[in-house]
Amino acid sequence: SVPLGYFGGIGRASSRGILIKGGNYLEALVGADTVFLDKTGTITEGSFKVAKIHGQTREAAILEGAAALEHLSNHPIARAITEAAEERGIAFGMIEDYEELPGRGVRATYDGRLWHVGSSRLLEDQNITPGISGGQLTRVHVTVDGAWLGAIDVSDQIKESSAKAVAAMRREGVNQVVMLTGDRREIAEVIGKEAGLDQVLSELLPDGKVKAIEDARNRGRKVVFVGDGLNDAPALAIADVGIAMGGLGADLSIEAADIVIMNDDLEKVAEAIQISKKTNAVVR
Ligand code: ADP
Ligand code: MG
Repeated sequence: SVPLGYFGGIGRASSRGILIKGGNYLEALVGADTVFLDKTGTITEGSFKVAKIHGQTREAAILEGAAALEHLSNHPIARAITEAAEERGIAFGMIEDYEELPGRGVRATYDGRLWHVGSSRLLEDQNITPGISGGQLTRVHVTVDGAWLGAIDVSDQIKESSAKAVAAMRREGVNQVVMLTGDRREIAEVIGKEAGLDQVLSELLPDGKVKAIEDARNRGRKVVFVGDGLNDAPALAIADVGIAMGGLGADLSIEAADIVIMNDDLEKVAEAIQISKKTNAVVR
């Protein structure tokens, strides 16, 4: 049972936009020494823009097929691609057999052909060699019937407050701040450096994120995971404390989280730890 004093801490936190689902989670935050952060929407804004389209065919054809699939996905990359098609007045038709491939992308039948839209893992899965390499942006490949059609480069931005938020975590006793991302290593490392992280684990599938958290716990670390939502439910569940950024409205993750931060402000993570310590001092 949790001492009554924790209700005070929960109330103080909620007035600061930090919703804590129970006193036990506040207690579990005391002494947190490791924070795993999802990249997209947590360290970065999570609002992608289409920056460049590469390919062997007309840009409009690549964007049309990609948007036909992506308009059914909630992923922030999918939204950018759908918006880019709409902005250019590119109409797309109906798809069949749509499937979301977590941490990879999407696939569906469009215009009688099988399309895949997503990371380079989708190419590896199908043994396809891309027609382009290099670059400094997140790259979304488009394949049709097992052949590479093109790629859409999308850009996101680090949140202005991320480095400050990480520094604040350190002041609360966190000595390992680690990024977990499915994105490319080149991009992840640039953002990791800007945010002042201790470690960057990139090109992970959702399973790989869970495993990194499990390993840290097995080493005796007290682990917090912070994610923005999409595909994060397993990681939120396995951490000592799972914190979801509530702003994007990814319902599943909010359900799986122990704590929800209402306005996506990463600085609230350190504040939650601080409140947990103060509350703990009062309770004991
Ligand atoms: P993150 O770890 O940055 O939160 P995810 O695990 O959601 O990213 O996705 C990992 C990678 O898989 C993305 O960087 C992207 O390349 C690809 N991906 C996932 N979902 C989609 C989608 N709907 N459309 C295009 N690419 C996707
Ligand atoms: Mg994510």
